[in-house]
Amino acid sequence: MVNQGSDTLLKGISGSPGICIGQAYLVDREGVDVVEKYNVLPEGIRDEVNRFKTAVKKSEDELTEVIEELPEELHHHLSILESHLALFKDKMLYGRAIEAIEGERINAEWALKKVASRAKAMFQDIADPYLQGRVDDIVQVSDRIMMNLVGADAVNIGNIDKRVVLVAKDLTPADTARIQLERIKGFVTDRGGKTSHTSIIARTLELPSVMGLGNVTALIKNDDIIIVDGNEGVVIIDPSDETLLEYEEKKARYEARRANIKRRSKIPATTVDGVTMKLMGNIELAEEIVSVMDYGGEGIGLFRTEFQYLSRSHFPTEEELYEQYREVTELIFPEPVVIRTLDINGDKALIYAKENDEENPALGLRAIRFCLQRPDVFMTQLRAILRAAAFGNMRVMFPMISGVEEVLEAKALLKEAAAQLEAEGVPYSENFEIGIMMEVPSAVVMADRLAREVDFFSIGTNDLTQYTLAIDRGNRKVAHLYNSLHPAVLRMIKHVVDVGKANDVRVCICGEMASEPAIMPVLLGLELDELSMTPQSLPAVKEMVRGLSFSESRKFAEKLMEATSLDEVAAIMDDFVYPEENENETVPL
Ligand code: PEP
Ligand code: MG
Repeated sequence: MVNQGSDTLLKGISGSPGICIGQAYLVDREGVDVVEKYNVLPEGIRDEVNRFKTAVKKSEDELTEVIEELPEELHHHLSILESHLALFKDKMLYGRAIEAIEGERINAEWALKKVASRAKAMFQDIADPYLQGRVDDIVQVSDRIMMNLVGADAVNIGNIDKRVVLVAKDLTPADTARIQLERIKGFVTDRGGKTSHTSIIARTLELPSVMGLGNVTALIKNDDIIIVDGNEGVVIIDPSDETLLEYEEKKARYEARRANIKRRSKIPATTVDGVTMKLMGNIELAEEIVSVMDYGGEGIGLFRTEFQYLSRSHFPTEEELYEQYREVTELIFPEPVVIRTLDINGDKALIYAKENDEENPALGLRAIRFCLQRPDVFMTQLRAILRAAAFGNMRVMFPMISGVEEVLEAKALLKEAAAQLEAEGVPYSENFEIGIMMEVPSAVVMADRLAREVDFFSIGTNDLTQYTLAIDRGNRKVAHLYNSLHPAVLRMIKHVVDVGKANDVRVCICGEMASEPAIMPVLLGLELDELSMTPQSLPAVKEMVRGLSFSESRKFAEKLMEATSLDEVAAIMDDFVYPEENENETVPL
């Protein structure tokens, strides 16, 4: 009999690419969400605090066990789990919860719920997706304590004895790290997003996942057949036979293509007519280097150093910065690493930097502007950079440059930092290229003058699009208007490339548009020298470039430059003939 099925389709966020089909297994976390408030008598307060401390201790022990038993291939994610361990004793959670129990005479569950929501709200107001990912960390850590408080069973993924698709409100990085690949096909969750650590681990394990589905746990029952399409961020409950067949075929095609592309990820991105593009990876944390290397990246084209500042409650020391920069530089050697100096504020506000109280932060004291006003903070970073530069192939890049004066000032501070190290007898190197981000329209206009001061330009299309089109990159209400293929942005890119060529200055793009395989004909045709992208996009982007012709792409880009509107750009792009094997398959890998 043919199964009609209801084909219920849910749209979420792709946590990790891939497709899987299987029986649902609901991870039950009853008890964590339904918490009641009650008052504690003064004589019971000490016991209540102890009950809270015991739950925290038990949670710490559980997590320590996970860390100790972490499989080898996940070792580079240790720091994520260790950061969770540190959160258990964080003042914001631990200290405040105890204060609430004592001060408000309330039960431990309610106190924890209260402080966790306050901490969540604090981070949630910040538009930066990385910091929003940290909201997940707070939720996961407080959920684990809560489970131990209410006596609920922890998710025991290790005991599942059939091959299933996990369905959960949320999975912690620790849960995900314990997944036994032979038992779990993939997972879907109510919460979480692309930058959550759970999805980072899922990508490492290559487990298809869809996250941020809202209430998928209420819609799926145990043993329901579900399809998880991590490429499209789609889940289908109760699929018909026809849909099942369609997805079986999609899955087979995807897996064959992925295996083929991955096998070829170390092959350079050389077009059919012999032009090679250098393709590098963007990283935020040192541990991401492994992905860049695994996926065939030829260096790190953007090291966003601000994340070391965002993940703590005070400015890092020179030594802490130096250690990390040195590690990255040594690991990627002989390939280069482009260290971008601090790009904070804007959408990446530093809680401990008072300067961030601004009406219009994207146009405020952000990045190089902040650094030039706070030479103390900037010099610490520059000294760490100069010291680490002695250990590999480093390039240094200044963000959000809007004019020549800023470059001169930044370079002068770099010289001053070198002079200090020299005087102190501390080893360092000044032998590196200096570049700037091209992400402010005024810099693009002044590109010919800026070219005299630097060795390379790196176009930050994320911000260049924001500032050129006056569209806040983090504002959902105008997200439909935000598009880096807008003719105005394309013209700016072309201008920077032309100036670069005329002045012997290398030009790279390190914004998100460089991660899109479908955009490669444009970027190749515009004659960018280098691209730097999300590491996971490297194999598919490389494969795309290898199938393209440089001369055809150039003609195509010339045609694009004639476009008047985004619609025209889209029409010209639709007309472009992609190499056959890439047709319809430009999903991330
Ligand atoms: C950009 O603006 O394109 C860029 C790469 O920098 P960030 O996304 O860190 O602002
Ligand atoms: Mg930027």
